[in-house]
Amino acid sequence: MIVFLKSDTSHQRAQELASSAEAFLISGPDGFVLINSSSVKTLAPQLEAHTRDFIVFADDLQLGSKKYQSQTREISFGSFSIGGNTGNTVVMSGPCSVESKAQIESSAGLVQELGLKVLRAGAFKPRTSPYTFQGLGTEGLALLSEMRERFGLTIISEIRDGSHVADVIAHADILQIGAKSMYDHAILKACGKSGKPVLIKRGFGTTLQEFVQAAEFVLSLGNPNVMLCERGIRSFETKTRFTLDLCGVAWLKEHTNFPIVLDPSHAMGYAYGVPDLARACVAMGVDGLLIEVHPEPGKALSDASQQLNHSEFRQLIASLHPIATAVGKRIC
Ligand code: PEP
Ligand code: MN
Repeated sequence: MIVFLKSDTSHQRAQELASSAEAFLISGPDGFVLINSSSVKTLAPQLEAHTRDFIVFADDLQLGSKKYQSQTREISFGSFSIGGNTGNTVVMSGPCSVESKAQIESSAGLVQELGLKVLRAGAFKPRTSPYTFQGLGTEGLALLSEMRERFGLTIISEIRDGSHVADVIAHADILQIGAKSMYDHAILKACGKSGKPVLIKRGFGTTLQEFVQAAEFVLSLGNPNVMLCERGIRSFETKTRFTLDLCGVAWLKEHTNFPIVLDPSHAMGYAYGVPDLARACVAMGVDGLLIEVHPEPGKALSDASQQLNHSEFRQLIASLHPIATAVGKRIC
């Protein structure tokens, strides 16, 4: 249940009410808001005098639901935003991993040249083998910060585990929670407390309900800046790396208020399929795309098979503009 307290309720009173009702307390656009489990269906008697309105839910998709907020939430990255009425389809692109200064400079230059605003790259990589490149760690984060200063780009990078949460929060403008870590409550809660924009990637065996409830962990701690990213789920198919769940995206657009970002690179696993999939995603009117691009994909230290080269990426971006225009969106 979500309870909207009357706008003249003081912070101290709101805190007292939250603790007596064992509810989360956040600050909404029109005053304080209390959130209980969706199993609570009736208003606690002590809240009655202070309540302006309340909503009862069938399940724990609450703050992230269309019932709570009918319009897609708008998340600001400083000089531009995603979601809301912006009409933006924000392309977050760059290599899978930061590998060297020369490599990330080349990627940042490409992103800037194409008029895009967000540079993506992992410094802490969640690999399926302990024997492969695990990322440059804090050195990678420092390189990303340098690219932000020199190229004026917004940086998204992943928090892999609890050992470096504070480091990524300090360096990245957007915090990425990966498919393999989206159940990690310490990461979700740290992101919730940080207040920074957070992009949560769907685990490859994660139901839509589990996905949105992971996002509720961040929202319930007072951070409204959450985006969801569909990056492919595991099916019986083995010819492609994963299966991009566009039906799931349609469900998220209908029932939730999160900006939706699509990642065709990790879904497909092979560069040849990424441009067609990216165009299909833009045609769905999504809020963002996450695409891996590398100066020399064949030499990439992670996800080599799926990264576009610079010339493929330039062609892809050129082809996305008219599709975005046709669905009332703008690539940026
Ligand atoms: C990534 O974005 O580089 C990544 C590791 O993605 P995922 O968590 O979706 O596997
Ligand atoms: Mn990758």
